[in-house]
Amino acid sequence: MYIDGKWKAGNSDFAVTNPATGEVIGRVPDANEHDIEAAVAAADIAFADWKKTTAYQRSELLYRAWELMVRQKSQLAELMTREQGKPLKASLNEVQYGADFLLWFAEEAKRMYGQIIPSARENQRFLVHKSPVGVVGAITPWNYPISMITRKLAPALAAGCTVILKPAESTPLCARAMMEIFDEAGFPPGVINLLTVQNPSRVGEVFCTDPRVRKLTFTGSTQVGKELNGLAATNMKRVSMELGGHAPAIVFPDADPVHAAKGLSLVKFLNTGQACISPNRIFVHEDHAEPFIQELTSRASRLKAGNGLENGIGIGPLINELAVGKVDGQVKDAISRGAKVHTGGQRLTEKGLSGGYFYAPTVLSGVTEPMRIYREETFGPIAPVITYRSEKDVIAMANDTEYGLAAYIYSNDIGTAMRAFEALDFGIIGINDINPTSAAAPFGGLKNSGLGREGAQEGIEEYLETKLGGFAI
Ligand code: ADP
Repeated sequence: MYIDGKWKAGNSDFAVTNPATGEVIGRVPDANEHDIEAAVAAADIAFADWKKTTAYQRSELLYRAWELMVRQKSQLAELMTREQGKPLKASLNEVQYGADFLLWFAEEAKRMYGQIIPSARENQRFLVHKSPVGVVGAITPWNYPISMITRKLAPALAAGCTVILKPAESTPLCARAMMEIFDEAGFPPGVINLLTVQNPSRVGEVFCTDPRVRKLTFTGSTQVGKELNGLAATNMKRVSMELGGHAPAIVFPDADPVHAAKGLSLVKFLNTGQACISPNRIFVHEDHAEPFIQELTSRASRLKAGNGLENGIGIGPLINELAVGKVDGQVKDAISRGAKVHTGGQRLTEKGLSGGYFYAPTVLSGVTEPMRIYREETFGPIAPVITYRSEKDVIAMANDTEYGLAAYIYSNDIGTAMRAFEALDFGIIGINDINPTSAAAPFGGLKNSGLGREGAQEGIEEYLETKLGGFAI
């Protein structure tokens, strides 16, 4: 753990495993009640001075952390692959994406503008000032174990907040490596604190109830997000919630089905489907279903599964046994209700994969509404294809979900693309674009996918309070 600028062992610890092999790759402290209290107290005390620093001072520290991160890119990526499982190339991309947030918010720190508002009264002046929210509790997931940390911490620190980070129990080593970077960059003691913990619920409760913590920022499942949001609401905490998704991808009849299949296979199987913006329902016009499914199947079946540190690996393992069971359950349910399997459809245990949590990249067609996969987030390498007849039908089907994070469309007709962009109830829409994410672009969802935005100009607002000064002169 890292508390008040010092590394700290715990009274007990827990093991971290490599999901590609099942081997233990490290142990980390398991925070107890005293550690949690020490971290909150350190962040609270540090806030008094940190909030008085200038944006230029905070910016310089973020720049330094960015430089260190870029310099250590390959070591961080290798650790990520060992701890989380994604192929090394994907880890390198994630480390770069993670570093981008430090750079972006090092710049945004200097642009926290207030306002002077004209008053209707001659002898009055209005001044609007932005100030940091206070101590922030940050809970991050395992699927993007480095970029989800910087996406939260960079804007919080830029704004002048202090932070307690609680990373996912599957990926604490990446969080520890990031903390070494922040430590070396020279952030003052208490400004950033790290609690590794095996059972996260007590930390979540403290973040939502302790009066010294003013804001909770959470990325994870909708179920846990709702529980924490409920508790935070009764204590009037600010929250940002980045939760689950069930992204539709629509291939319109004017698009090239082979080109669309290429793009959607890339985004579907990225991170073994373990992304909240992963396409979960792929809608293809019935006239184009055949070439589309053929191309998607061919690409899925050619992906080589294995340890992401080896050459030529296209797809890594799922995170754990539970994830394999969930994915397999959805596939079996779909098959029992009439879905057709074009490739995959089972766990992979051959050729040295038996120690890990591998599932074959799978393409299903004939997916219909009664199947669980039609509504439940999958978080696995399953591409369910659904055919449709009209634009009106497909927009209604795409919007028929409790989630509202990402959606994708393929169309070569600007009118169709614009109508779909306007009609889809999602926070992020890729139009012939399978990577609509960047530190400079607002990321977040509607409906049960969450509250608030990360990255972009909006990202720093989440950590700022608006203070009005009314001056009678
Ligand atoms: P997933 O199913 O993707 O693992 P979770 O929502 O369970 O999603 O986990 C995301 C993050 O939320 C992790 O850091 C995890 O430790 C944390 N988490 C899970 N349950 C709780 C809880 N009750 N209180 C606080 N944090 C939690």
